[in-house]
Amino acid sequence: MLADSFGRIATDLRVSLTDRCNLRCSYCMPAEGLDWLSSPLLLTDDEVIRLIRIGVERLGITEVRFTGGEPLLRRGLPGIVACTAALRPRPQISLTTNGIGLARLAAALHTAGLDRINASLDTLQTATFKALAKRDRLADVLAGLAAAAAAGITPIKVNSVLMRDVNDGEAAQLLRYCLARGYQLRFIEQMPLDAQHGWRRENMVTADEILCALSAEFTLKPDDPAERGSAPAETFLVDGGPDRVGIIGSVTRPFCGACDRVRLTADGQIRNCLFAREESDLRGPMRSGATDDELAALWRRAVAAKLPGHGINDPGFLQPARPMSAIGG
Ligand code: SAM
Repeated sequence: MLADSFGRIATDLRVSLTDRCNLRCSYCMPAEGLDWLSSPLLLTDDEVIRLIRIGVERLGITEVRFTGGEPLLRRGLPGIVACTAALRPRPQISLTTNGIGLARLAAALHTAGLDRINASLDTLQTATFKALAKRDRLADVLAGLAAAAAAGITPIKVNSVLMRDVNDGEAAQLLRYCLARGYQLRFIEQMPLDAQHGWRRENMVTADEILCALSAEFTLKPDDPAERGSAPAETFLVDGGPDRVGIIGSVTRPFCGACDRVRLTADGQIRNCLFAREESDLRGPMRSGATDDELAALWRRAVAAKLPGHGINDPGFLQPARPMSAIGG
């Protein structure tokens, strides 16, 4: 098992398949993009699959979520999903995506074994989308979500980050849109993980503010917190249910005590926390001939060193060197 010294067990593996993205959301990266990882540094499909297999067969990983960057940009994604689905015990397989390209790929991914998607959708306004993501792709995103639903990849979870004076007036409209289509909406507080280091606490739209905005238009009743488990979202029944909305208050309502996640970056580094300042290299040892046992031991050691919390609210907090897109959100 992947245990840390605070009694948490990591069972949920986030695998970043690329640091590249076809959007430039301002809370994530600058308009001009970033210096992408060069190909020799990236794990090959076979290397990714080997590490996932070690995680599942030897280390107790039960859920594998592919992310990035934008994971749909990884050409080998359907094959990687299929190989993951062939592992025993079969893990749950999910994808975090901006949805662009999903209209073309949803059916193939479903056939390969993809169980669920989390799609990012921050606005329903074309002009706001262009301003926030620097690309005119809202229609592609919405078509991608509809295609995933049509392919049977359900339930579809939608992630929204609200930014002050950009899209913070859209909370209720986003919820109405998702409820009408059976998507499960979760709002995520903006975290200090942007490449530009532009995050300011005073600009962050907090979980309290989001709840207040939604409560003006809907009746929200909190779900029993005992049933939340390791889920990052606090959930609320909307207008008596059964529909729900989630709030992921990563900054103002941290949930590190229940965290069961571990991350593998596209260049083969294990991160025990989104906000970790240290990583453990598996790519180097793997390419030097390390056995599965040796890689598993390195991975265990990396998770054992996990800190009790992300530290965002500590006075000495330092943002990690890598932005969200290079870690895998
Ligand atoms: N490209 C994919 C996508 O758009 O979902 C996967 C990667 S993206 C980094 C994963 C999630 O992280 C998205 O829902 C995105 O909105 C969120 N995200 C990125 N930067 C963030 C930040 N600074 N604070 C909170 N969430 C962020």
